[in-house]
Amino acid sequence: MGRKGGAFKLKYMKTKGGEFIIKETNAQDIFIPEQWTEEQLMMKKTCEDFVAQEVLPHLDKIDNQEPGLVPSILEKAGELGILGISVPENLGGLGFDFVTSMLTTEVIGGAHSVAVALSAHTGIGTLPILYYGNEAQKAKYIPKLATGEWKACYCLTEPGSGSDANSGKTSAKLSADGKHYILNGQKMWITNGGFADIFTVFAKIDDDKNLSAFIVEKAFGGISLNPEEHKMGIKGSSTRQVFFNDCKVPVENLLSERENGFKIAVNILNIGRAKLAGAAIGASKQVTTKSVEYANERNQFGRPISKYGAIRYKLAEQAVRIYASESATYRAAQNIEDAIHALIAGGMDEAKAKLKGIEQFAVECAILKVHGSEVLDYVVDEGVQIYGGMGYSAEAPMDRAYRDARINRIFEGTNEINRMLIVDMLLKRAMKGELDLMGPAQKVAAELVGIPEMSEPDETLFAYEKKLISNYKKAILMVAGAAVQKLMTTLSKEQEVIMNIADMAIETYVAESVLLRTEKLVGMRGEEACKEQLAMMRIYINDACDKISVYGKEALNSFGEGDELRMMLMGLKRFTKQDPFNPKAARQVVAEKLIAANKYCF
Ligand SMILES: Cc1cc2nc3c(=O)[nH]c(=O)nc-3n(C[C@H](O)[C@H](O)[C@H](O)COP(=O)(O)OP(=O)(O)OC[C@H]3O[C@@H](n4cnc5c(N)ncnc54)[C@H](O)[C@@H]3O)c2cc1C
Repeated sequence: MGRKGGAFKLKYMKTKGGEFIIKETNAQDIFIPEQWTEEQLMMKKTCEDFVAQEVLPHLDKIDNQEPGLVPSILEKAGELGILGISVPENLGGLGFDFVTSMLTTEVIGGAHSVAVALSAHTGIGTLPILYYGNEAQKAKYIPKLATGEWKACYCLTEPGSGSDANSGKTSAKLSADGKHYILNGQKMWITNGGFADIFTVFAKIDDDKNLSAFIVEKAFGGISLNPEEHKMGIKGSSTRQVFFNDCKVPVENLLSERENGFKIAVNILNIGRAKLAGAAIGASKQVTTKSVEYANERNQFGRPISKYGAIRYKLAEQAVRIYASESATYRAAQNIEDAIHALIAGGMDEAKAKLKGIEQFAVECAILKVHGSEVLDYVVDEGVQIYGGMGYSAEAPMDRAYRDARINRIFEGTNEINRMLIVDMLLKRAMKGELDLMGPAQKVAAELVGIPEMSEPDETLFAYEKKLISNYKKAILMVAGAAVQKLMTTLSKEQEVIMNIADMAIETYVAESVLLRTEKLVGMRGEEACKEQLAMMRIYINDACDKISVYGKEALNSFGEGDELRMMLMGLKRFTKQDPFNPKAARQVVAEKLIAANKYCF
């Protein structure tokens, strides 16, 4: 198929987006990060060397925004092919597949502000043209973007229009001679704004209801910039307000069709969300490595602090959450890749297939974004704590890591908006008949009034955890089913309940992904070689159980009443019942391995 990477090119899996709530997945049918090919690992090494040589030694200069430094680092990345990883070879890129691009995004995720500049360029900056541009637009812009000769940014947000992105006021009017659109308006928070040559700008033509998108060259004129924003973190990443004052854009630079801009923005954000999770994993691994190194090095009360249970808990928990987020991210990335392959095999054009494939997994993309960004925030917060006073020092690495992490819960759709999207998209799919949520929800409701089955416990490896995951799915179906029935059309206004249901879905998807990854890995390496992974899986799945119980209870108590509520609460108790489990012993197994390796090692 002419696309590089791909561990499973011959096998088009039938998994559909969002289906995890109602279907079981076989461990053999998921991709796990222990299966990289030589070619993929070589690309990973290129990115690791780039970050180690071109970025990490210069972090202070980057954050001080030394003139020309970040653009020159992007050009270096272009020379190495890093900017063109997802760009087809005929347009000057390397033509790698989605999963490989996720791996390289992960590595670049450790590059602080440069990670943001680079991903804004290759993602929201380049992809609208690559996926929606016509042949002439792609031929003109993509090769120069893939090499870094031109740098790109994406102008959607405005002072009055952030989460409500379609409400932007920037206007586009056709000139009297019909040759240009004249753009006027103000954009805000534009990453790479200070040095970009190419701006993808969203604006409304005349009184249109929906946005249109335009490819705007800085050279067209009529563009001015405010000074750099003073930000909490990612200080080296250029963030500007951009003003369009009678900016003349040739009509041939309308991207896709009139009023198609909002759809472009949403679809490009789906990709950005999945990639953000990849970048968060890379940053989290780096911070965990620093945390372990420091814990091993720092002595208090006559011993390294890594000997203390309170610190070992934190190190283990950092690793557990990263392992979990990584399991979910690459599972979804391969599902997306397979969906793309299947669409291409069915005759669809590659660019369209990529968008469609990713759109099918938009629920999972939102899950990954929320989970990955919150794992990173946990990891950096505990990283600061492990460093103690040095965690608060601007001379030590945690200060920058902590500040840089925080943006991830805000951009690419805030985590609140993404949580709402998870539930909204699932319910819309159910309503369209694409996802049968009602059938399984009714079955769970029937189970609630029936007598609980008493079967002999299955002692085989993973049987208990599989039962737990299946019960988490029942808990979601029960709570979501009841919420839909009880609240009907007002559910969309009951955001607290929606947040609870979204959190139940996030925990279930991630917990299942950890289980499937570990099961597959044990199949490949044997149980003894995977004792830390087994411990991480058990910790995550047990914790998820408690969280699902709390989220479910909150939701049910928010809208349920009387006997029906009491029955559902009892059902929830049944679905979140767990056997005794010793989390301290399991975390000790994980911490021991990290401390011996002196780095994140899973
Ligand atoms: C450093 C940085 C870089 C950025 N880069 C870019 C870029 O390159 N291009 C670009 O176009 N944009 C960019 N953005 C903008 C970013 O995408 C927006 O900040 C983000 O979408 C949130 O919009 P807002 O800031 O207007 O917040 P608001 O939408 O005002 O949200 C404020 C709070 O209200 C919540 N909220 C909003 N609506 C609802 C609702 N309906 N229900 C419940 N809660 C709600 C939000 O979750 C949030 O907690 C960047 C932002 C930053 C800070």
